[in-house]
Amino acid sequence: MQESPLGFVPTMGALHQGHLSLIEASRSQNVLTIVSIFINPKQFDESVDFEAYPADHEHDLEQLEKAGVDAVLLPDATQIYTDDYRFKVTENDFSRRLCGAHRQGHFDGVLTVVMRLLNLVRPDNAYFGEKDYQQLQLIRDMAAAFFMPVNIVACATVRETDGLAMSSRNQQLDEQQRAKAAALYASLKQDPTADGVRQKLAGLGFEIDYVEDIAGRRLAAVRLGNTRLIDNVDI
Ligand code: AMP
Repeated sequence: MQESPLGFVPTMGALHQGHLSLIEASRSQNVLTIVSIFINPKQFDESVDFEAYPADHEHDLEQLEKAGVDAVLLPDATQIYTDDYRFKVTENDFSRRLCGAHRQGHFDGVLTVVMRLLNLVRPDNAYFGEKDYQQLQLIRDMAAAFFMPVNIVACATVRETDGLAMSSRNQQLDEQQRAKAAALYASLKQDPTADGVRQKLAGLGFEIDYVEDIAGRRLAAVRLGNTRLIDNVDI
């Protein structure tokens, strides 16, 4: 590591306490911290989802200033995709499962934008949340596979008081959906089997994308109305 290490926190904005915990971790381990806000169009498989994704740059920038961030990268899509997305990073195994099985091209979009952002910023340490567990694993594997000179740092999931994992998408939930959403984490923790979780959540009106136990982790993606929620716990 360099003498003045640079920490980097890539985000899609609509910042909450989960993002701020990554920033805190970066600030405590680096001399400088840079945050990017970029709603990456390539990782959305549905244009309605992309269009509905919350954006409030003014509020985000205020929060970043308060959090003591040193610089903010706010690129637009033409600056990130100068090649019109002719080049991309594809993983052919784990990225096909779980979220990848339900969201066509999602992880190609994620890995490609993370590679590009890391090459632009060239941080010593880059911070990612365990909330997006499959994403974190794939980014770690990509950094290792390409011998990328960056340390990928994992940060624990930050939750609301009722257990719901904080997410920019939570603000899309109506009051009733928000009350129900806490059952996702509760059920992942409490039910002895993935099948039990599926049945419990389906009974409550969740649409299930998947609930799977993989290598000591239970991962799930569900939908309430148009809002997709993901979470995972240690088992
Ligand atoms: P996003 O803006 O949703 O792309 O998230 C940017 C980064 O923040 C990713 O590394 C996420 O895993 C992380 N993150 C999002 N929500 C949380 C949370 N509740 N706790 C910890 N990290 C999170």
